[in-house]
Amino acid sequence: MRKYFWLLFATMAFTELPKQYRNTEEVNNYFEKIRNNPPLLTAFFTAMPKGADLHHHYSGAVYGETYWEILMESNGWINPHTLDVDTAGALHKAPWKHLAEIGSDSLKQAYLRKISVKDYTALAGPSDQHFFATFSGFSAPASYGMIRGLQEFKQRAIAENVSYIETIMGVPDTAIRLPEAGAWEKSLSGARLSDSTAVTATLEKVYTALIKNGIANAAKTCCRKQDLLHQRAAVDDSLFMLRYQLSANRNAAPLSVYRKLLIAFQAASMDSLIVGVNLVAPEDGSISMRDYSLHMLMIKHLHHYYPHVKYSLHAGELAQGMVRPELLRYHISQAVLVAGAQRIGHGVDIAHEAQCLQLLDSMALRKVAVEINLSSNEFILHVKNEQHPLMLYYTYQVPVVISTDDPAVLRTDLTEQYVLLATRYPSLSYTQIKAIVRNSIVYSFLQPALKERKLQQLDHAFNQFENEIQAHLDSALHD
Ligand SMILES: [Zn+2]
Repeated sequence: MRKYFWLLFATMAFTELPKQYRNTEEVNNYFEKIRNNPPLLTAFFTAMPKGADLHHHYSGAVYGETYWEILMESNGWINPHTLDVDTAGALHKAPWKHLAEIGSDSLKQAYLRKISVKDYTALAGPSDQHFFATFSGFSAPASYGMIRGLQEFKQRAIAENVSYIETIMGVPDTAIRLPEAGAWEKSLSGARLSDSTAVTATLEKVYTALIKNGIANAAKTCCRKQDLLHQRAAVDDSLFMLRYQLSANRNAAPLSVYRKLLIAFQAASMDSLIVGVNLVAPEDGSISMRDYSLHMLMIKHLHHYYPHVKYSLHAGELAQGMVRPELLRYHISQAVLVAGAQRIGHGVDIAHEAQCLQLLDSMALRKVAVEINLSSNEFILHVKNEQHPLMLYYTYQVPVVISTDDPAVLRTDLTEQYVLLATRYPSLSYTQIKAIVRNSIVYSFLQPALKERKLQQLDHAFNQFENEIQAHLDSALHD
C-alpha cells in the first residue's frame, strides 16, 4: 500500500512540476511583453503575491485622510494658520478650533499637502526637509488612532496581495533618571570612539544602572501595551500577519538613545510580537552624524546581552553632497561589521564606502539583506534609475528586498515599488523578481516555524497566480 502511495505521489509530482514550470515560463514571456506598459504592469503586480513589506514606518504608513477622519470624529483640534493638529484631550486657545467646526475640504487638502508629498512642488522647500517635517503633522493622531491604523494596513495589504508587514514603532520613553546621568551623558557625548574598550566600559556601567533601576519593568509595560493593541486590532489571520520593530530616535542625546534601545532589546527578548529593533530619524542630522559610531557600539554592546534579538539598521540613507564626502565612507560598514545588523535599510551610499566591494562581498557572505525603498530614495535623496545601487547589490549577490518606507507620506504602495523595479531595471526577469519577493519572507524577522508557513503560503500563491495568468492567456488565445 505504502509503495503504491509513493508511486502515486511521484507520478503526481512528475506531472505537476513540468506544468508549473511551463506556466512560469509563459508568465516570464508575458511579463516581458508588458514591461513597458505601466497600466498592465500595475495590474500584474497588484495581483502578484508580494510577500512582505519589511521596511514600513507605522506613523508614515497611515494615510492623512485617516488622520483627518480620526480628528473629525474625536473632536480633535486644528490651528488653521499652521495646520498643526491635536487630539481632543489637549487644551488650546484661538486661533485653534475644533476640526469639526471648520474642517472644510480645502483645509483638508492643505493638511494633506503638509503631511505628505501630495501635490509637492519645489516651492515647498527642499524635499528631504519637507519629508521629515511631515511627521510632526501627525504625531498626535498617530498615537491616538492606532487600532484603526493597523486595521487599514491589513485591508490594504490583502487588497494588493501582501501577506506580512513588519512595522516600525517608537519606544515610549521611561521615567527612569539616573543620578549619574549627567556625567555619563558627558562622557558618551565626548567619547573617543577609537577607544572602543573605554566606550564599552561606560556602556556597561549605564546598562547595570538601568537594569538596577527597573528598566525591565518599562520593557514589560511596553510589551503589555503592544500586546493589547495587537489583540484589539485583531489583524492576524490565515491571510495576513503583522509584527513590530521597536525603534530609538538617533537624533536624541546618547543616554536617551541607549535607554530606548535597551527597552527595545529587552521587550523584543520577551515578546514574540516584537520581532526586531531599529534606529530611525534623518541620518544626516547633526547628532546622528556625530554619534553614528557610538550608536553602532551601543548596538554591539546590547547584542552581547540579547544575542537572539534581531535588528535592522537604517544605514547609508545619504547621497553625495548631503554631508562632507568623508562622512559617506563608513555608515554601512559599521552597521554590518561593528553593530552586526541582520538587515540594513536603504544602503544608498554604498558606492562611497571606503571598502565598497569587500563590504558587498561581506554582506553577501553574511546574508545581510538590504531593504530597497525606491520612491523614498527618489524623493528624499534624489537618487533613482542607474544612480541607485540596487543592481550593484544584486550583482554582488547581496539579498535584496523591496519595501515602501513611509507609503502614506510618499502616497505609494508596494505594487508601485515593483512597477518601478521592473521599469527601471529591465535586466531583472519575472523569475528573478519572484526570488526577490521570496527574500521578503526569508529575511523577515519571523520565528522559524511561522516563516516556514509563510514561505509555503507564498509558493502556493505564486503557483495560483501563474495558473491564473496562464488561464487568461489561454482564453485570450481562444477569443
Ligand atoms: Zn525608514
